[in-house]
Amino acid sequence: CGIVGYVGGQSALDVVLAGLKRLEYRGYDSAGVAVLADGGLAAAKKAGKLGNLEKELADRPLPTGGTGIGHTRWATHGGPTDANAHPHLDNAGRVSVVHNGIIENFAALRAELAERGHELASETDTEVVAHLLAESFSSSGDLAEAMRQVCRRLEGAFTLVAVHADAPDVVVGARRNSPLVVGVGEEEAFLASDVAAFIAHTREAIELGQDQVVEARRDGVTVTDFEGAPAEVRPYHVDWDA
Ligand code: GLU
Repeated sequence: CGIVGYVGGQSALDVVLAGLKRLEYRGYDSAGVAVLADGGLAAAKKAGKLGNLEKELADRPLPTGGTGIGHTRWATHGGPTDANAHPHLDNAGRVSVVHNGIIENFAALRAELAERGHELASETDTEVVAHLLAESFSSSGDLAEAMRQVCRRLEGAFTLVAVHADAPDVVVGARRNSPLVVGVGEEEAFLASDVAAFIAHTREAIELGQDQVVEARRDGVTVTDFEGAPAEVRPYHVDWDA
């Protein structure tokens, strides 16, 4: 339902949680976050309101890092439980993904992953993306390329945002039939389902086009189509108050 990603000099957890609060009005049944820190990936997710997640974070704090993602979920596949809340991780716990929308061909992808030995921990359509990204990243070593490879296999509607512990200064996103906007700040970048998530930080935005992938780093963003061809970006200034 709501998605926020961040890379930069601030605490990603603080930026992401504040962004999720700005998206709360859309309604949701669960929430979660993941941050990259100390060479690893740490995640927390809870059914219920953001307050439940904040309590979990107070009881079990995450390490502080400058790269992270967050999600508020409106369940479509699998009930509103902690396990079904996003982010979803691969079995090694190195990659983490959040998703808005529906992956129509998830059942076939789940079966294929199970055959290759993957263990799926949720009932969601989303989780397949984490496992597929982990496989693609292990051969390419490039998270944006991994996202392009995975998107070419997906059917349905999706906004996806992902991080990988072996690509600590990168957040990638992709979209088809579901919105994704990029916020370009000074030595920081934001990915979100709605500009409201980041206008407290920057008003320089790029709207991702249909079937595009974005790689965001502190010093800028690169946008391609799902085949890897550079895409024309459409920067704009957000001049309204959210
Ligand atoms: N289909 C996904 C799920 O049920 C994403 C739902 C959403 O857009 O929040 O987990």
